[in-house]
Amino acid sequence: MTYPQNGEKIVAGVVVIGAGITGLQTAWHLTRLGVRDVVVVERSYAGSELYGRFSAGVRRQFGSRFEIELVTASLPFFDEFLKIPEIKAGYEPVGYAFLAGENDRAGLYRSWQLQQAMGVRSEWLVGSRIKEYFPYIESAGVVAATFGPDDFWLNPWTVHQWLLQKCKEAGVQVFEHCPVTSIEVKDGNIRAVVCPGRRIETSKVVNAAGARARLVQQMAGSDVPVEPSPRVKYLVKAPSDLPRTMPLITDLVTGTYVRNEGGEAIVGVKPLTHVTGYDYDTSQAALESMHHLAGLRYPSLAKIKPLEPNRVITGLYDVAPDGLPVVGADPAVKGLYLAAGFNGHGVMFSPAIARSVAELVALGQTETFDLAPLSPARFSGKQKEAETALHLL
Ligand SMILES: Cc1cc2nc3c(=O)[nH]c(=O)nc-3n(C[C@H](O)[C@H](O)[C@H](O)COP(=O)(O)OP(=O)(O)OC[C@H]3O[C@@H](n4cnc5c(N)ncnc54)[C@H](O)[C@@H]3O)c2cc1C
Repeated sequence: MTYPQNGEKIVAGVVVIGAGITGLQTAWHLTRLGVRDVVVVERSYAGSELYGRFSAGVRRQFGSRFEIELVTASLPFFDEFLKIPEIKAGYEPVGYAFLAGENDRAGLYRSWQLQQAMGVRSEWLVGSRIKEYFPYIESAGVVAATFGPDDFWLNPWTVHQWLLQKCKEAGVQVFEHCPVTSIEVKDGNIRAVVCPGRRIETSKVVNAAGARARLVQQMAGSDVPVEPSPRVKYLVKAPSDLPRTMPLITDLVTGTYVRNEGGEAIVGVKPLTHVTGYDYDTSQAALESMHHLAGLRYPSLAKIKPLEPNRVITGLYDVAPDGLPVVGADPAVKGLYLAAGFNGHGVMFSPAIARSVAELVALGQTETFDLAPLSPARFSGKQKEAETALHLL
């Protein structure tokens, strides 16, 4: 990999903005499709926004067809990756579970029916079976649950580093600490990408800037309603009744999600309202409030007092109004492509998304996954809206 000096003129076949798991994977696929001179520009260091370096979940228990299809199309990549003997990918096939109260029962059932129709292995649990599966929970208020035994966890950082290596081997230039400050567009066509001290001439840009994707679209004179949404989790020593093999349990009643991650209980809570922006509330009061909710479902967690987390983790979701990814060619600017709006699922979606975006850019059409319903055009009134994701899951 060579690093041109500041001020040096660079000409790229494609510029990918963002060296996260989506951007790197897109760059790698572009080279595999024969695109030359692929450049990745990253405002910070590669992977700087990759939340969950320790583990990321890959699941097919979703409430929308697109999301199930996206993960299904991504699984072959993960299968191959997990076979690489020298990589310790932290694979944990512990599954995912969802708990529903009266208010969410019908929605969870519809999601489960969809999963059954699409061949996803998941179980519908009611009555005493819920406690049989999850003996460590306080089940008051829970009327139904699902459990997907094939859902799994892996360390996304190992995937990211492998992709970075693949990009280097394929001759992709990765410019870190190179924040894109403007994108030149002439007569509706991309002309260049500009970072401090660097101007990269190109006719094609892939915007894989995650939670900052909207800012990048706006630099090109376009727009897309993808917003950053801050998330906070804390980790405490796992109580002895929470087994290492417990699934990640999303409790739709309290909004909590809990898992035993390597001996630590990792606790998160879905915000009650849709919060946007870059600011995290990691105050003791906010953490105590999360801990209180988790304690309602897990008596052993409730006993942890005072709350003194081992760690607090923060990260940004990138979220579109309908909760689905926004991926495809920009309807207004020729040569601009967007891959964002992953709503906390960007690791598991990335293989199918990145490969399809690379196909769209290099071949003019997709072969791996039909991105048309996820197009940014759905927000400009030029295309009917995509199926709305059931935000339950
Ligand atoms: C709390 C939490 C839990 C999660 N759990 C899971 C999970 O279990 N499973 C799962 O699949 N996903 C999960 N995710 C989501 C997942 O981490 C993200 O969706 C995924 O990392 C997104 O990758 P990306 O490459 O699209 O974006 P990012 O990783 O955000 O990468 C975008 C990159 O673009 C760069 N950038 C931005 N603006 C510019 C600019 N102007 N110039 C140059 N570079 C720029 C950024 O610095 C960043 O490195 C979780 C996220 C959070 C916050």
